[in-house]
Amino acid sequence: MSAAQQNFAKDALAKAFDLSHRATIAHNISLYEKAYAKGRLQYKNLDAARKRLAVLRHKTTNELDKFLVEFEAHFTARGGKIIWASDANEAITEILNLLRKRQVRTVVKSKSMITEELELNKHLEQEGIEVTETDLGEFIVQIENDKPYHIITPIMHKSKEDVAALFKEKYGLSGEASPQEVTHFVRRLLREKFTNAEVGITGANFLIADIGGIALTENEGNAVMSMSFPRMHIAIAGIDKLIGSIKDLDLIWPLLATHGTGQKITAYNTVITGPRQEYEKDGPSEMFVVLVDNGRTKLLKHKEQRRAVSCIRCGSCLNFCPVYKNIGGHAYGTVYSGPIGAVISPHFLGLQSYHHLSFASSLCGRCTEVCPAHINLHELLLRNRMLSVKKGYSSPFERFTMYALKKVMTKRKLMDMGNAGLKNFALSKTIGRFWGPRRKLPRIQKKSFNKLWKEMRNFPK
Ligand code: SF4
Repeated sequence: MSAAQQNFAKDALAKAFDLSHRATIAHNISLYEKAYAKGRLQYKNLDAARKRLAVLRHKTTNELDKFLVEFEAHFTARGGKIIWASDANEAITEILNLLRKRQVRTVVKSKSMITEELELNKHLEQEGIEVTETDLGEFIVQIENDKPYHIITPIMHKSKEDVAALFKEKYGLSGEASPQEVTHFVRRLLREKFTNAEVGITGANFLIADIGGIALTENEGNAVMSMSFPRMHIAIAGIDKLIGSIKDLDLIWPLLATHGTGQKITAYNTVITGPRQEYEKDGPSEMFVVLVDNGRTKLLKHKEQRRAVSCIRCGSCLNFCPVYKNIGGHAYGTVYSGPIGAVISPHFLGLQSYHHLSFASSLCGRCTEVCPAHINLHELLLRNRMLSVKKGYSSPFERFTMYALKKVMTKRKLMDMGNAGLKNFALSKTIGRFWGPRRKLPRIQKKSFNKLWKEMRNFPK
């Protein structure tokens, strides 16, 4: 058992029985569900929109090499610079080099999951650079030295009382501070950070090939301020973020908003096509886009699982997943949690150590039903399971059990051999070991269905 597997088993068990954690999650997800139910009413035919998105994403995924080159050509034509990074180490080295050359000491940063993948903050702080998260949720995560809990709502596991208590501890606010009071306090504090920062780092919700631009969508306006106040802007994006045309945003932005937060459209939607031009008054004088692979091409090599590259990171599959609702985001031990995390993390981080995530699913298929990009998530989890068994990552005992079961269950004669007591004993010693202590292993009855059926119909024995 890998360390990741052991931690997952331990943390998932603890969280599943932590009733106050479950109550907070249930409350916060219920707010999402209400908003989502309302938001989806903007579509006359949501399924048609989802299918269109699936086709669109499928096309870019299949021609990623072409679109990436197109993006680079257009982006660099307007003075932007591209850095290609095959993994997290390369990305970090390149980013630190840029900052060292310019002797940067202060960075403001907007919410970005890829920077979590790279553990960027840790590396910047080790370099003595002050980095400030400017998304309210991420700011809270940062001051608590925590990790984001969800790809869209990083503090979904916190109640407003938890947040007030944290601000009392860190900044001396009243322990009864309302969400509005906390927000105003952070807003004032961040204004100074925005105006003083030398570099702004953002992610990119999408990379637009035909215009060489990045698309940012957010509700607080902090990403726009992070990129426009400082003299240099670094956008970091996975190569999977490519879309063919700016026209595609017409479909993608509302789908992302509705599935992410239940909004018709997110409050701030920005397209950035490079650094400040001569005729422009403001904006950064330098802009870099760091294009990161970090396991994405590995995922693309798998005929079925490559569909997961179409994900637009809306977080909807997490919110509807019965496993996520019980164990929460941190138990996964990965940046990406929930169904999409369980599909992609084993490919990003190594199937041998992380294949267990694909087994942590009821396979109910709710994730697939709600995914705006029409990704067949529950089937991809099965594909991962299949692959991990083929690679020999299941235990010898599990392999033996499955082999024996297959032999017996495909031969009626073998199934009818022995009495029920003996069969129940054999089952408890094999399947029973995987069954867990909290559910009862079904018992084999004295008379099988086959026998009962024959008796009912008076079939000859
Ligand atoms: S897999 Fe689908 S539902 Fe899940 S985050 Fe990605 S786009 Fe959203």
